[in-house]
Amino acid sequence: MASKKLLLLPGDGIGPEAMAEVEKLIAVMNADLGAGFETERGLVGGSAYDAHGQAISEADMAKALAADAVLFGAVGGPKWDPVPYEVRPEAGLLRLRKDLALFANLRPAICYPALAASSSLKPEVVEGLDILIVRELTGGVYFGEPKEIIDLGNGQKRGIDTQVYDTFEIERISGVAFELARTRKNHVTSMEKRNVMKSGVLWNEVVTQTHKAKYADVKLDHMLADAGGMQLVRWPKQFDVIVTDNLFGDMLSDVAAMLTGSLGMLPSASLGAPDAKTGSRKALYEPVHGSAPDIAGKGIANPIAMIASFAMCLRYSFGMVAEADRLETAISAVLDEGLRTRDILSEGKTEVGTTAIGDAVVERF
Ligand code: ATP
Ligand code: MG
Repeated sequence: MASKKLLLLPGDGIGPEAMAEVEKLIAVMNADLGAGFETERGLVGGSAYDAHGQAISEADMAKALAADAVLFGAVGGPKWDPVPYEVRPEAGLLRLRKDLALFANLRPAICYPALAASSSLKPEVVEGLDILIVRELTGGVYFGEPKEIIDLGNGQKRGIDTQVYDTFEIERISGVAFELARTRKNHVTSMEKRNVMKSGVLWNEVVTQTHKAKYADVKLDHMLADAGGMQLVRWPKQFDVIVTDNLFGDMLSDVAAMLTGSLGMLPSASLGAPDAKTGSRKALYEPVHGSAPDIAGKGIANPIAMIASFAMCLRYSFGMVAEADRLETAISAVLDEGLRTRDILSEGKTEVGTTAIGDAVVERF
């Protein structure tokens, strides 16, 4: 890719503090490696609401559409609890996902060796863990119609959500999972509930057909999503890439997140469809954690989730695989040395702040 246009949307709470550490890396990569990143900044969430009365302005949406990748911090906080629902901070992220058509949400669960001992699971269960959950993000029961609460008139109401998936949606999300598996351990596990859901039957069928037609070299397993949840906790290392729908993916990725320790460690990527002409795809990278208002402004937030999200950006938007590997290795090295923010602090380790972690990662990169 010729251009490397990045839109930085730091957002609210600890978002800007975490983003500042990524900006240091971008500056170093431009200066020392001639990486050629062009950055623009925009407002999203509560900070955008304060400035324009909208969770993201049209001008910033236009910048997002023109960018090669968007780096997103976090949005929200108690300050904006009273604002109207349509312009609440989270609406900014939802608008970005919708307008960029980001249908594939990638959530890695990686356990850094230095943190295995302080996991809530046995070290041998999580040591060396590296799995990737690919969650469908724009369809399924969160969006299907009808979606309503009906008054039945006899003092009873009925809440309705509808799970809907069409063939093309299952084809494209499973295609993403198979492609990614080829760059990893070449193994995909598809999860649904075909025993009780029609959409699960179709999901299973389409994944199987997509595999047969285009990705027969990848190992494919199917698992019922409930059994999958159990296996994820019992022996997560049996998985490489898990592909699943919006609802199951939401839950399973949170379960997987807790295998690896703090929220402050976890990156994510959301990808759109490749452009028919250029092959490039819209993408947004964000930490899994929120704006953490309780620690915002104190300089103690863990910036690793945001930095690791930038590593995903290098890998998936710019094909800078060697640099992404080096960045992840640098994170691991900093942890090996015993540097910790408070959220991942354990006995015998050294507590440092946000900027010290960022500086240490830059130094080892
Ligand atoms: P959201 O609704 O935006 O997901 P949330 O309230 O569910 O937000 P977070 O904002 O992620 O969740 O915060 C949950 C807890 O985790 C808080 O106590 C917060 O301080 C802590 N936390 C989250 N991210 C980090 C981080 N990067 N470093 C340190 N602690 C964090
Ligand atoms: Mg939350």
